[in-house]
Amino acid sequence: MATVKALAAPEMEGRRTGTAGGHKARSWLVSAIEETGLSAIGSDYVLPFRFRSRNGEQTEGANIAATCPGADPSLPVIVVSAHYDHLGVRDGQIYPGADDNASGVATVLELARRCRRLPFQHTTFFVFFDAEEQGLQGARAFVSSPPIPRERLTLNVNLDMVARGDAGELYVSGLRHYPSLRGALEPVAARSNVRLLFGHDQATAGADDWTFQSDHGAFHEAKIPFVYFGVEDHADYHKPTDAPEKIDPVFFQRAAETILDALMALDRQLASRSGRPPSAFCFLCFVLIQPNPAFRT
Ligand SMILES: [Zn+2]
Repeated sequence: MATVKALAAPEMEGRRTGTAGGHKARSWLVSAIEETGLSAIGSDYVLPFRFRSRNGEQTEGANIAATCPGADPSLPVIVVSAHYDHLGVRDGQIYPGADDNASGVATVLELARRCRRLPFQHTTFFVFFDAEEQGLQGARAFVSSPPIPRERLTLNVNLDMVARGDAGELYVSGLRHYPSLRGALEPVAARSNVRLLFGHDQATAGADDWTFQSDHGAFHEAKIPFVYFGVEDHADYHKPTDAPEKIDPVFFQRAAETILDALMALDRQLASRSGRPPSAFCFLCFVLIQPNPAFRT
């Protein structure tokens, strides 16, 4: 919630790409990612890009990214992402974008803080995309010239609006396109403290298909598998009332814990599918956490 409040604060002016508020949000996030102790992917946390906005102007955006080394460096990379831009100021009103998408950024930042204490097998890139609200521009720039060869990117886990469970529901979308990931996520749904639902990935008439609704769409276009976590649109979606006080912190925490559980399950499933045995370190973890009846009196 502290991250949500910082990014949704009035001085961030709605974080529209290319504005003073957008630059403030960028600086805030660079400091936050530095404090995690994670390294930049290349020489800098900031990955600048240019795009033509809808009114035809050349605009500069900047993705922010860090890398967390996995236990098995031979495995490809999982990209965990959330966009940090929002709509800015319109008719003198600030659009704070607390759920959309300060909530996703806060969750990705927390995962970045914890990743080195977790037994991830894959190296993980934590990426905050810019200019999502202007047509997934940051994600498109990242996928079209990634900081490592594109074939090394094995999965995108994208978060966009994860804090407003007005019905206690969180969706994971994309499994219709990538059904082999379902096996990893079914046990996560069964033990989650939120209602984790699968769907919003059918391109049938009348269905609300989210396949290209956020940055994961750029990965899907490039044939990189994705799963997307998000909630249904709510009354404050893209309104000046999408404010931190509308978030239920209990749901938000449960959603974040579910996403962490899902990320770990996907990491394990993809590592085991690659045919390698688990690393010695994790085998030791596994042995140590088993209750041993011989020690009971
Ligand atoms: Zn969004």
